[in-house]
Amino acid sequence: MHLRKPIIAANWKMHKTGGEVEEFFTTLLPQIKDLKPQVWVAPSATALRLAVKAVHGSYVLIGAQNIYFEEKGAFTGEISAPQVADCGAKFVIIGHSERRRLFGENNPDIKKKINSAASNGLIPLLCIGETLEERKNHQTEHVLKNQLVSVLDEHFEGVIAYEPVWAIGTGQSATSAMIEEAHGVCKEILKKLCRKGDQIPVLYGGSVTPETTHALSRTKYVDGALVGGASLEAKSFLSIIRGFTS
Ligand code: PEP
Repeated sequence: MHLRKPIIAANWKMHKTGGEVEEFFTTLLPQIKDLKPQVWVAPSATALRLAVKAVHGSYVLIGAQNIYFEEKGAFTGEISAPQVADCGAKFVIIGHSERRRLFGENNPDIKKKINSAASNGLIPLLCIGETLEERKNHQTEHVLKNQLVSVLDEHFEGVIAYEPVWAIGTGQSATSAMIEEAHGVCKEILKKLCRKGDQIPVLYGGSVTPETTHALSRTKYVDGALVGGASLEAKSFLSIIRGFTS
């Protein structure tokens, strides 16, 4: 039983043109009007302003998929927290495993990004998770602890997404038992680390689909989902939202 509304967040990665973003919301918004869920959507930076306009008057929050930690300067190709906030975005995904793996993002960078997000009024949605090798070597707890301890301080107020790297985009979701255990670990650490640690939502991400939502929404310590592939079609994203809110 959830004490607060679950957060169902979409990470669209490098997908959707402006027209496709508008089409998505035209289909989705009338369907979720009465559910009043917490729906968060992170489109590409190119569609941020357009997405904010498209969801105006609804319960949907728009966020960015990444920021650079400096506020302005000679950083060609990067976008800053003030720029993202200026588009009307409310949150930003930080530390996604694709950014860590493909773009060399490390914990010191991530810490600075979290601080920049917070000081510019953006909610940081921090992604953490172990690789398959780390899981096989029984290092999951250690990895999660390290990823949290090295970037958070007592003032952190945001959202955590537990996303096992091996489950992202693979069609192989973690089991309920794995998720419960990992989320339990995160919640314990958050309580010790952050003043408002017991209020920090922990979402699960990794091959979430309409089919896996029922079990996920009933898994202990799960406060919502971060959805990649299955969030691209309004119909499947809607099924996931319904699965969590019904
Ligand atoms: C993600 O990219 O955050 C993600 C969870 O992707 P997918 O749902 O496609 O595994």
